[in-house]
Amino acid sequence: DAKAKGRRGVSLFDPDMQEEMQDRRTLELDLRAALGRGELELFYQPLVSAIDSVTVGYEALLRWNHPTRGQVSPAVFIPIAEETGQIVQIGTWVLREALREAATWPEELSVSVNLSPAQMADDSILTTVVGALAQTGVPASRLELEITETLLMQDNPETIAVLHKLRDMGVKIALDDFGTGYSSLNYLRSFPFDKIKIDRCFVEDIAEKKDSDAIVRAVIGLAEELDMRTTAEGVETAHQLAQLRQNGCTHLQGFLFSKARPASELAHKLAVPGAPAKEAELAVEAKP
Ligand code: C2E
Ligand code: MG
Ligand code: MG
Ligand code: MG
Repeated sequence: DAKAKGRRGVSLFDPDMQEEMQDRRTLELDLRAALGRGELELFYQPLVSAIDSVTVGYEALLRWNHPTRGQVSPAVFIPIAEETGQIVQIGTWVLREALREAATWPEELSVSVNLSPAQMADDSILTTVVGALAQTGVPASRLELEITETLLMQDNPETIAVLHKLRDMGVKIALDDFGTGYSSLNYLRSFPFDKIKIDRCFVEDIAEKKDSDAIVRAVIGLAEELDMRTTAEGVETAHQLAQLRQNGCTHLQGFLFSKARPASELAHKLAVPGAPAKEAELAVEAKP
């Protein structure tokens, strides 16, 4: 029982820990089969213009429909895929699938795809991107790749060279989860990003906390100086929306507008012009 366990303390053969490791191992094996079994699916979350809340594109977000566990969060399985190297194969699938889907959208809509550091380990990502664009006929300018500071932490000149080649092709590069790393400001010097995505943790309490609001305003000002656009992540309330608009943030993303949805349920497919804006208004009205 719990008391006995407490007396024994944590041993190397802690049954709980062993169970956890076994569970992870099972998940790892399941993930190996997931792609072939068609269990992976992309959901899409709108990115809207801050000025009028019109949808300008969608971020592709991976979902794993596990046969017995139900939907497993990417926060759980992406790290596993990264550690085992499976992310390269999965990431290639994501890129192709997202572009295949985007090819069916109105051409003014962009598609954003998250890249893991392992996908940038060599320049095969260039071949993958060029191939996927050619296959789907989507122009490079409609593709945005989201990378995180983890990638830049390695301080690898080859990675920067690959980013430059992608950008020369016309692909947009966004710095995701900005502000959560160790020396975020320094990374802004390593590459001329098209966009900075301000992490949800800063957006969360801008309405209540002066410091968060000050940080967000500073990041937006900095981005303007550097000729970069800004997307605020995790916008959930009308308060946050108003404040971010006032502060000059260029794009917004969050549950206030829509959560990520299956490809078949995207607003523009329901053939209602202006639906995303209406959706936002409804969400605002729904708040107390
Ligand atoms: P991310 O790229 O920062 O994506 C944004 C996450 O915030 C998504 O979680 C999204 O559903 C969530 N989100 C958006 N708006 C709101 C909001 O208003 N409130 C709250 N509470 N959350 C919001 P999701 O889909 O669970 O993805 C988590 C992370 O997994 C992503 O963070 C990304 O780092 C990673 N990921 C997802 N798909 C892929 C992929 O295809 N490849 C790679 N390498 N990573 C992926
Ligand atoms: Mg992202
Ligand atoms: Mg993010
Ligand atoms: Mg984030």
